[in-house]
Amino acid sequence: MSVDLGNIRNLGIAAHIDAGKTTLTERILFYTRRTHRMGEVDDGTTTTDFDAQEQKRGITIYSAAVSCPWRGCTINLIDTPGHVDFTAEVERSLRVLDGMVVLFDAKEGVEPQSETVWRQADKYAVPRICFINKMDRIGADFELSVASIRERLGVSPLLLQLPIGEGPEFTGLIDLIEMKAIHFQDEGATVKFSDVADHLKARALTAHHQLVEAIAEHSEDLMDKYLSDEPLEPAAIRAAIREATLTRELVPVLCGSALRHVGVQQTLDAICDYLPSPLDVPPVTASDPTREGVEHKLPCEPDGPLAALVFKIVSEKPVDLYYLRIYSGTLKSNVRVINAADRSKENISRIYRMFAKRRDQLDEATAGDIVAVIGPRNALTGHTFCDKRRLLAMETITFPETVISVAVEPKSSKDRGKLFEALRAIERQDPTLAVKTDSETGQTLISGMGELHLEVITQRLRSEMNVDVAVGKPRVSYRETVTGVGEAKGRFERPIGGRVHFAAVHLRIEPRSHEASRPSFEVRSAAPEGLANPEYIEAAKTGIVDAAGSGVLGGYPVIDWTVVILETEQREGDSSELAFENAGRSAFYEALSSAGPVLLEPIMDVEVVTSDDYFGSIVADLNARKAVVRDSLIRGTDRVISADVPLSQMFGYVTKLRSLSQGRATSTMTPSHYAPVPPEQMKALVG
Ligand code: GDP
Repeated sequence: MSVDLGNIRNLGIAAHIDAGKTTLTERILFYTRRTHRMGEVDDGTTTTDFDAQEQKRGITIYSAAVSCPWRGCTINLIDTPGHVDFTAEVERSLRVLDGMVVLFDAKEGVEPQSETVWRQADKYAVPRICFINKMDRIGADFELSVASIRERLGVSPLLLQLPIGEGPEFTGLIDLIEMKAIHFQDEGATVKFSDVADHLKARALTAHHQLVEAIAEHSEDLMDKYLSDEPLEPAAIRAAIREATLTRELVPVLCGSALRHVGVQQTLDAICDYLPSPLDVPPVTASDPTREGVEHKLPCEPDGPLAALVFKIVSEKPVDLYYLRIYSGTLKSNVRVINAADRSKENISRIYRMFAKRRDQLDEATAGDIVAVIGPRNALTGHTFCDKRRLLAMETITFPETVISVAVEPKSSKDRGKLFEALRAIERQDPTLAVKTDSETGQTLISGMGELHLEVITQRLRSEMNVDVAVGKPRVSYRETVTGVGEAKGRFERPIGGRVHFAAVHLRIEPRSHEASRPSFEVRSAAPEGLANPEYIEAAKTGIVDAAGSGVLGGYPVIDWTVVILETEQREGDSSELAFENAGRSAFYEALSSAGPVLLEPIMDVEVVTSDDYFGSIVADLNARKAVVRDSLIRGTDRVISADVPLSQMFGYVTKLRSLSQGRATSTMTPSHYAPVPPEQMKALVG
């Protein structure tokens, strides 16, 4: 069964936590007839939240992709998490989706997390539509929400609907294209269209004219008709809205109440009408892993060379499920593909289209689609599957550095093997988690994005994997970097295994500016060609990268550096890869020591929302935590404080905030950047 590419919508729904994303997703799955029972979040029974933990916490953490057919379209809904501790997951979803519905709570307007997601979506040039949810909530304010979209997000909202009433008086919508009133009955199963009531007509007409005027600017044809007062066909209006949405000049705004089943079908219509199909997005760039610097543009073509990106791995028994976005070519079941990252072979045994509660097996899937496969064993998130005759690697997905770690120990020593297995499984699914063994203490350390992230992991170990663990105190993950340039020569000459091993490596280390989207270090060789075997240079690089895993100040990983190998020396008969690895390592340490090494600590972007009553004491507390308050806004009756605070000062903050505000204030925290530790503190940390 092939799918018309123009009818695919790869879509994400993004929202601040509690704006109603889970409820809207539920409703979408219901109306697209893939689930037959409507789950309610408040009962803890929903259809997309697979994870037992998520249901308990009521937050969506792990992305999954679900297909929903609507009006001839295949909507692939890629779940994006709402909690800021999981922004890396949002970025991962943004890589593979083409369009987005951004959800707002009508009482709150634009909240910090939706603003963060908005900026991330800007980075990936994702066309969006907005849905103002909870119009039925007491205090819902459509105008204020639209104003906050305009002001806080700096975009031109294009109203396609008006609410009929607000809060408890909210009864339906006015469709400003068709100029009809819409009312919903029987859990949205019955949708009634009628003429706009007299007392709303004037307002609806003004809004209709604003809509037409805004889009006429983007279509000459419409402008001519508009200026000569000719009637405009709804289909022509929709086509013009689509154009302006795809170029991101305008952002369509819809409204409703997911909970009360108002406006969900119209949102599905808008997804099909205005958001891009895979054919509307520019070709992606892939590189040839065998030839440095060679890049290919891959348009979305089923006949093109195969390139499929692994964007999510979900552990399942007996085998893992791999979620892929196919960018080019056609993937068939029962074939072998090549993982471009290491050129290993992987099997694609089965291909599935995933629905919320069932999966359909497919013989093949083409460019533009999102599917799940089983068969691969070793590939990781960010790897590309391709054909052996045409090696192609998409840009891998980079994840932020971890900022916090805890030691986990099995309560019973017989569980050690089980703990290791369980952590390996979680690590494969969650690329923002790192598991390692502390070389000094032998403890197992897990590192992640924040206290909540690690808490979720340790709870999963207990509840899903049945490993009872003792969890240590959270520790900040420090880093080291260089502030200047250092040069050194490393020599290695030693008899091992009955022969002498010799190598010398001369290198320079220098600071490298930080960019979140690329690796935090680089090793280049400027050694004269022909003098050293390429394998020896590679071995020296391996030694250098390995050495950078623990720096000279406190044994923390060294980031944001470039090493240039200036010269190497080899001796016929005596040189070996082992010698070069060691020489590279010792040259790195020596150069690092002379390049002004400093300790870096993670700085968190903290946002606190509070009423005026607690503002003073919350700011005083933040100041005591060495916060730099960046911004303090008034939003409705709330104050929103944005601050940069060292993570080391933020342990247990949620509890403290609760007691400072009698449980009224809320906070979010996300890793922002690394900054040098002040000298007086550095002494205590590195002795
Ligand atoms: P998420 O965190 O964005 O996934 O939000 P949920 O879907 O879990 O919803 C959070 C809370 O808001 C739940 O108690 C929902 O019942 C409620 N909610 C969701 N949509 C609406 C709505 O349209 N109106 C009202 N009044 N409440 C809603």
